[in-house]
Order: sequence, then C-alpha cells, then structure tokens
Amino acid sequence: MATIEERIANPTFDETADLDLSDSALETLALHAGTSPDPTTGAMLTPIYQTTTYRQRRVGEDKGFTYSRAANPTVAALERRLAALEGAEFATCYGSGLAATTALCLALLRSGDRVVVSQAVYGGTIRLLQQVLSRFGVEADFVDTSDEAAFAIALQKPTRFVFIETPANPTLKLTDLQVAAQLCKANATLLVVDNTLLTPALQRPFELGANIVLHSTTKFIDGHNATVGGVLITNDADLNSVFAFTRKAIGVIQSPFPAWLTLQGVKTLPLRMAQHSANALSIARFLATHERVTHVAYPGLETFPQFELARLQQRSGGALIAFEVDGGVAAGIRLMNSVKLCSLAENLGAAETIITHPATMTHADVPPDQRQSAGITDGLVRLSVGLENVADLIADLDQALRS
Ligand code: PLP
Repeated sequence: MATIEERIANPTFDETADLDLSDSALETLALHAGTSPDPTTGAMLTPIYQTTTYRQRRVGEDKGFTYSRAANPTVAALERRLAALEGAEFATCYGSGLAATTALCLALLRSGDRVVVSQAVYGGTIRLLQQVLSRFGVEADFVDTSDEAAFAIALQKPTRFVFIETPANPTLKLTDLQVAAQLCKANATLLVVDNTLLTPALQRPFELGANIVLHSTTKFIDGHNATVGGVLITNDADLNSVFAFTRKAIGVIQSPFPAWLTLQGVKTLPLRMAQHSANALSIARFLATHERVTHVAYPGLETFPQFELARLQQRSGGALIAFEVDGGVAAGIRLMNSVKLCSLAENLGAAETIITHPATMTHADVPPDQRQSAGITDGLVRLSVGLENVADLIADLDQALRS
C-alpha cells in the first residue's frame, strides 16, 4: 500500500486536473476554475488546508508551500478561481478588502508618491489614505473621475496609480473605464479598479484596459455574509510578485477557512448577480414612483444620468440603490429604523437585503465637507438588494416609508 506522500506524488484521482476551461463561460469557471478533486481521496471540494507549515523532503526541496503566511493551498485555489473569473492570470488573497488595498499601496508607493482616487469611494479607502498613509508621505487627490477634463488635469502631476471605484460606493456615480484606461496609458500610470460592487459577472475591467482589479470578497464574491476577505488580480507577473512579497512581508494573507467558504460562495456568483440586478431594478422603479421618495440613483434606471454609460460598461445595474426620502435626514433615519425584512447593517453584497446610512456608518470617518462634495448627503440611504422575493422586499420598504 502506497503511503499518503507517495499517493500525493502519483495521484490517481486527479482526472479533472487538466480540464481545459480556456473557452468556458463564467458559470462554468465559477464552479470549476482553480480546483480539482483531491488527489489523495477524490474529495470533490478542495480541502481546508488548516496547517501552518509544510514538511520538506530535503533542504530546499518543497512542494511549493513552506509557511501559510506566504501561501496556502486552499487560498491558492481561491486565487486561481478569482483570477479566472476576471479573465486574468494572477491573484493574491488577503484577510480583508482593506488589507488588499493596504498591500497594494505598500507594494507600489514610496514616501513622496501621489495617487489619484475617485471622489466617491468606500469610506475605509479614504480613511486609509488620509489618516494612515499620509503619515508616511503619501499624497492622495480625490477627483471626480467621471469628469474627463478634471481627470486629465489631475494626471498632469506625477501619479503612481489611479484608483477607481465604479459604480462608486455609495453615490453610484460611474467612471468611464475605457476613458480612464486611455488617460492612464497616456500619462504612464497604472489603473486600479475596485470591482467590488459589480464583480466580473457584470463588469470586466481588464477588457476595458485596467492593470489591477481589487475586490472586497466580503461582498458579492462570497455573497453570504460569512467571511471578510480581499483580492488583488493582475495579468502582470512582476506586479503579482510584488504583491505576494508584500503580503508575506506585512502578514495579511487570508486564512484557509474563509478562503474555503469563499470558494463555495463564489460558485453561484453569476446566478446571484443576475437575480440581485433584477430585484434591484424592480425596487428602483418602485422607489422612483413613491410619493415619499425624492431621489433615486440606480444605474439600471432609464432616468439615471449615466444610463448610457452603464449600458455600455455594465451587463446590468447591479444590486445597489442610493435614494433620499422626503423629510431629509430624520425621514431617512425613520425609514431605516422601521424596516423589518431588510437589515440595518454595515455590509453590502450579501444574499440578505441590507440597508445602510453611509453618513453615520460606512463613511462616518470621511470629513463632512468631503462627504458633501462627493454627493454623500446626510439623508442618503444605501440599499444592497438581496435575493428575497422582490414583492416581500417592496412591501417591507413601503411600510417603512409610510411609518
Ligand atoms: N471596497 C469597497 C467598494 C467596499 O465597499 C469595501 C467595504 O465595504 C471595501 C473595499 C473594503 O473591504 P473590507 O470591508 O472587506 O475590508
């Protein structure tokens, strides 16, 4: 009887290891990319390699893994799958979305460097740049990247990279990624796209010219409110090596269990994103005609100012809606306190519908004047539409709006 080590070295179960997925569609990649049955047992699911270290046969002879702060087989399987979903070659996973942003900045920036960032982005990204990295001599300019002229002017000064979130969290303002890529190329700078809000199921930044894609996998990629995680994806082997080195040096790799849960969650990503979008469109239409609602922003609504750009760049509108209620801040807060099926919480992208007050929750650390100029008003309500029956969600929002 062969030992386990011998069986690992000479797998007999690994029939799908060389499955050719090069022409496969997203639904197939979400299920099969990056994993194959366990060579030792035939287990369909990649095991949770809950191990710190890896026994080496001889000095300098290992199987590609040495210590789980540098790399781990379960995390590596998730990295292969996420790279495949974005249509790219390389990925590195992190303990959170912000850990991915931190690794990106520490990998690419030196004291004295400057970055250009979309005016409206996740509040934690702003906090990291303004309250932490500024202490190390990094300058961040927040620019309305949807305004091509303002964007071009911002790039006249040396810029190490441009960081764009489109749609922006929470205003849902869009940036034209093709224009952004052209501007970045002309100014010899890198384009980083935070694709968290749409995922590769609805938006393909690499096809539009991005150099690096970032996700908080905490959101739609996992999709079940179960894990916190992040990823950096690229086609550039040198960039990927710098990310992997930085991750090891600062110690921010994802743990195997959340990586494993994310591998399961991401299997249904294309299905979920289609249903999130369909539900969100119905709710946006309902809100747009509701007497208590004064403003609705949803990229899939014909009345959205950048509807044509959304149609060009996105497969559908996505799950997020931003809206304001007649009666301002007090009315918005009354609504958020009155929902029953929707949960008042600080996440987005889950199967469950989540309602958030950005000014006091996700963007509370952003200075009020910066919030106002980015369009994040105190009355803005952010809705991450989930997978519940849409009529149940509309009934809940209606009763809360009338409360
Ligand atoms: N990017 C976006 C668009 C987000 O919404 C968030 C979190 O809300 C992050 C990044 C940060 O991710 P995490 O919460 O996983 O650190």
